[in-house]
Amino acid sequence: MKIFNTATMTKEEFKPIEPGRIRMYVCGPTVYNLIHIGNARPMIVFDTFRRYMEHKGYRVDYVSNFTDVDDKIIKAANDEGVSAQEISERYMKECLKDMEGMNIEPATVNPQATQEIDGMIEMIQTLIDKGYAYEKNGTVYFSTRKDPDYGCLSHKDLDNLRSGFRDLKVSGEEEKEDQLDFVLWKPKKEGEPSWPSPWSDGRPGWHIECSVMAKRYLGDTIDIHAGGEDLVFPHHENEIAQSCCANGVPFAHYWMHNAFLNINNKKMSKSLGNFFTVRDISKKYDLQVLRLFMLSAHYRSPLNFSDELMEAAKASLDRIKTAAAHLTDLSEAGAEGQMTETEQAIAEEAKGFIAKFDEKMDDDNNTADALSVVFDLVRFANTKVTEGSTRALAKAVLDVLVELTGILGLKVLPEKEELDLDIEALIEERQAARKAKNFARADQIRDELLSKGIQLLDTREGVKWKRV
Ligand code: AMP
Ligand code: ZN
Repeated sequence: MKIFNTATMTKEEFKPIEPGRIRMYVCGPTVYNLIHIGNARPMIVFDTFRRYMEHKGYRVDYVSNFTDVDDKIIKAANDEGVSAQEISERYMKECLKDMEGMNIEPATVNPQATQEIDGMIEMIQTLIDKGYAYEKNGTVYFSTRKDPDYGCLSHKDLDNLRSGFRDLKVSGEEEKEDQLDFVLWKPKKEGEPSWPSPWSDGRPGWHIECSVMAKRYLGDTIDIHAGGEDLVFPHHENEIAQSCCANGVPFAHYWMHNAFLNINNKKMSKSLGNFFTVRDISKKYDLQVLRLFMLSAHYRSPLNFSDELMEAAKASLDRIKTAAAHLTDLSEAGAEGQMTETEQAIAEEAKGFIAKFDEKMDDDNNTADALSVVFDLVRFANTKVTEGSTRALAKAVLDVLVELTGILGLKVLPEKEELDLDIEALIEERQAARKAKNFARADQIRDELLSKGIQLLDTREGVKWKRV
C-alpha cells in the first residue's frame, strides 16, 4: 500500500508501527451547526480508506474528535440565548445522524474536547516545564522558535511568514514573543465556558486538543493523521510541535490530506456562505449518491460540486443496484445444481476483480479508479450471468460485487435483501446449533425469528422461511 505523505510530499510504502494494526486520527468537525458537504469529504474518503485497510486484514483504531468548545460555538449559543453545551450537544447528535446516513463506520472513539481538559492542562504544563511554552497574564503560548523542526509539515519559509505577520496584531495576543507563537491556553471572557488551570480560569486553544486526544486514545506515536488540506498549516504543524516537544518522540508517521470540495471553483465553507448541508442533500438524494460522488474523484484532487455530477452519481449507483438486484433474483430463481465448468471459470474471473480493485486502492486510496473496476465488474456480470445461469454462479458474482461496494461503503442491495441476509445468517446459526445438539439455542433462534414475523419450515430440501 502506498500513501502520499504530506510530510515528505511523496508516495511512500505504508509500514505500520505494529504489524496488523493501524492507529489513525482524523480531525473532526466543530459542532456549531449542521455539517456541510465539504466537511463530509474527509469523513467519506478516510472512512473508505479505513474500510479498505480492514478488508486487507488490519485492525484499525480510528479516532475522530468533536471540537465542542470554540468561538463559533459560543457565538451560536449567544445568538440563540442558550448554553454553549446545548449547541455542541445538539449538533454533535445531528452530525452522528448524518454520518450514519452516509454509512460512515462508527469511530473507535469520538472524543470531545471538553471531556479532555485535564490531559490538555497536563500537556501544557509539560511544555512549560521543558521550556517550549511561556505564560503571559494568564495566556500560555507555544514558543515556535524553541522548536527546531517547526515548519516540517507545511514546508513554509518561516522567516517570510514572520515578516508577513509583523503588522498583524490579534487582539488579546499582543504579548506574544514571536508572531508565529500560538495559544495553548487563554483566559475566559465574560460569559464564556471556562475551566480552572494553574494559569487562569479559561479554555484550551484548538490545536492542543488534537495532540492530547491522539495521545490518550492512540499513543505518543501514531501511524496516520488525516484531515482536510486547510489544516496543514497552522493546525497540523502546531499539533506536531506540541506532541513532539511534549512527548519527545515523533508524532505521526504519515499525514494524509484531502483536497477541497468546491462550488463554482471556490472552497465550500460556512464563512463564504456557499454551502449545502448534508441534510439539504439528503432531502433530494439518498446519501449513498453523495458518497459515490465523493469517491468518484481522487481524494487529493479538488472536486467541484454540481447538479450534473450528482445526477451522474445517481445514475451510476442505480446501475450498480440494478445489477445487484438482478444477481440476487438469479441467485434465488436461477437453475439449481452445481456450476458448470464454464461457469466455474466465470466465477474465478469475477474473483479476479478483487485483485484489480485492490491494486487501485493500494495506490494511495485511488477510489476513482477502484470505482471503475466496480463498473467493469457490473458490465461483466450483466453479460456473463444470464437467465440460464445457475444460482451458484449468480451468488458467486454477487458476493464479489457486494464485497467491493462494501469496501467503498456503498449499500447496493435493496433493504429487503439485507434483512433476508440477516435471516439467512440466523438460519445458518440454528442449523449449526442443531448439529452441535444445542437445541436450546436452536429453539431460541426459531422463536426470535417468529417474533420478527418469520416462520421456519423444516422441509426435505432444507430449511425454508416465510413471513407470517
Ligand atoms: P471544520 O469544522 O471547519 O474544522 O472542518 C472539519 C473538517 O472538514 C476538516 O478536516 C476540514 O479540513 C474539512 N473541510 C472543511 N471544508 C471543506 C471543504 N470545502 N472541502 C473539503 N474538506 C473540508
Ligand atoms: Zn485536529
